[in-house]
Amino acid sequence: MALRVGVIGGGQLARMMIAPAVELGLDIRVLAEAEGMSAQLAATAVGDYRDFETVRAFAKEVDVITFDHEHVPQEVLRALVAEGVAVHPGPDALQYAQDKLVMRARLAELGVPQPDWAAVTNGDELQAFLDDHGGKAVVKTPRGGYDGKGVRVVRDASDAADWFAEDGDALLVEELVSFVRELAQQVARRPSGQMVTYPVVETVQRDGVCAEVFAPAPGTSERLVQVAESIGRQIAEGLGVTGMLAVELFETDDERILVNELAMRPHNSGHWSQDGAVTGQFEQHLRAVTDLPLGDVTARSPWSVMVNILGGPAEGTFEDRFDAAMTEHPEAKIHTYGKAARPGRKVGHVNVTGDTLDDVVYTARAAAAHFA
Ligand code: ADP
Repeated sequence: MALRVGVIGGGQLARMMIAPAVELGLDIRVLAEAEGMSAQLAATAVGDYRDFETVRAFAKEVDVITFDHEHVPQEVLRALVAEGVAVHPGPDALQYAQDKLVMRARLAELGVPQPDWAAVTNGDELQAFLDDHGGKAVVKTPRGGYDGKGVRVVRDASDAADWFAEDGDALLVEELVSFVRELAQQVARRPSGQMVTYPVVETVQRDGVCAEVFAPAPGTSERLVQVAESIGRQIAEGLGVTGMLAVELFETDDERILVNELAMRPHNSGHWSQDGAVTGQFEQHLRAVTDLPLGDVTARSPWSVMVNILGGPAEGTFEDRFDAAMTEHPEAKIHTYGKAARPGRKVGHVNVTGDTLDDVVYTARAAAAHFA
């Protein structure tokens, strides 16, 4: 009988696992949080992932549970594991992707390079950190942030007064890193411990949202490639990650690398691999969580570029734009998420691969622009 993989969360990441699951002969099922989500095609259940009975009933139908996001509460995950359900990544690993303060403390123990940071519970503590760091810092809500929500540059303790007032929980404060660019390192790890690392990529954020990814990161020294890879391996192993891990990194002007944050699932910074690597991250995630041998991560061509389609067609539908986009750019691989257009929303992306970076960037941007 086919192995049954249950994905909690019905967004685009679950959607993009469906085709590789079908290819591998896996029976993929999705617990979506609502009707009509991106991964609707494989949604066998609709319900609240915070409710243990809902998740438990879904888990009964599958051999392994994995995720499209990191928001399933620890209590729910631990109760599943206690009942013998295979959960990948497991709660012990996932906690570090769920809470940025917990992550910072653990990475410090592991000796992984990261920005200066502190946990602060009031304005005085935040002001003390600001005073020690040239009067500027980044404050983050430890849980529930995404796409730059829950991240704020502050110059005075009063800039975070509303967050302190909300629930009294500690906030994470970090030095404001003057980075030259942002990078991401993808790693896949099986429960058995086998690991593979993708080439380190450059990610470009606009308004806190990933806009473009260049693979491999252009103009990167061999030393930097190796440092990124070893940080990725150290974290995957040190935290016991199973499945895909994305390590978001800052590159500083003195060529140091600092860890920003972690995602334990396929990640936007790895979408290029769908068309640019021998094994894409969605297939790799499925292999890893079902403990199958991992696939080759070699790039298929010198350059891959991913451009997100943010917002979507202002008028009409995606399909209205297909004819022109595909006629003008037959080499562009267009991925759509089945979502309604809304300003700033991630509704799809375009991958292009080729020999010359400038040409690849141009084509990917031009093809994506058809969907604006
Ligand atoms: P999210 O969980 O919303 O993705 P991140 O922690 O990744 O939040 O922060 C979002 C963006 O904010 C980062 O991609 C980076 O551009 C900027 N940022 C985050 N932390 C720092 C920092 N310590 N110094 C400078 N910029 C930062």
